Amino acid sequence: MTDIDDRPVVLIVEDEPKLSRLLADYLHAAGFFPVIIERGDEALEAVQEHEPALILLDLNLPGMDGIAVCRQLRKVSRVPVIMVTARTEEVDRLLGLDLGADDYICKPFSPREVIARVRAVLRRTSASPDDVSRGDPVRMDTEARRAEINSRPVNLTGVEFELLRTLRERPGRVYSRAELLDRIYTDYRDVSDRAVDSHIKNLRRKLDTALPGRELIHSVYGVGYRYEPEAAGD
Ligand code: CA
Repeated sequence: MTDIDDRPVVLIVEDEPKLSRLLADYLHAAGFFPVIIERGDEALEAVQEHEPALILLDLNLPGMDGIAVCRQLRKVSRVPVIMVTARTEEVDRLLGLDLGADDYICKPFSPREVIARVRAVLRRTSASPDDVSRGDPVRMDTEARRAEINSRPVNLTGVEFELLRTLRERPGRVYSRAELLDRIYTDYRDVSDRAVDSHIKNLRRKLDTALPGRELIHSVYGVGYRYEPEAAGD
C-alpha cells in the first residue's frame, strides 16, 4: 500500500528489469514513488491498486502490448501515459493510432530526460486553473488524483474523479451526457448514457455522505448535469 506516502506514484510497465530499476531509482530520487510491473496484462489491475499519477508504458511487453494496454486504460481512466518505444519510427505509427497517450519517449533515453518529461506531462495534465473557487467545499489534486471535501478525503473511482473534475471546470455550465462520456472514455461505443447516470449517482452518494444535504451536482432535465456548489437545490 502506498497511501501512507504522499509522493505521487509513477507506475513503470517495463519487462527489462535493468531499465525499470534504473528508472525507479531516478524517479525515487526525484520525489516520486515508483511501482514496477513487468507484464502488460497486469497493468490495469496495478492502476486500480496503486492509483498512479502517471504511467510509463513500454510498447513491447509480455501478456499484452503497450498499445492494447493504453486502449484498455483509456476506457476507464485519463491517467497520464508516456509511451516508451524502442524505435523513433514507431512514434509516427503510434500517433496515427490516436491512443490517447500524453507523450512518447524513445529508447535509448537518459533517465534525466525521462524525469523531465514526466514532470512536463504532469504539469500539463494538471494545469486546470483549479480549485480555489470560493464557496466550493471540494478540493481536487489532479496530480495525486485525490479529492477532498472540507479537508476530508473522498474516495472516488477514476471515472467519478474525471466526472467531478470535468463538471467543476466550469461551475454552472450544463454538460450533456454525451460530453461527459466523451471526457471519461475515449472509446465509448459500448457505453450508454445510463452508464453516466449510474456513475453520477454513485458520485452524488459519496458527495452527499461527505456533505449531507448540500447538493453539488444538479440534474438538468433532458440535458445532463451541472456542478453548482452555491445553487439552491433543484
Ligand atoms: Ca519491452
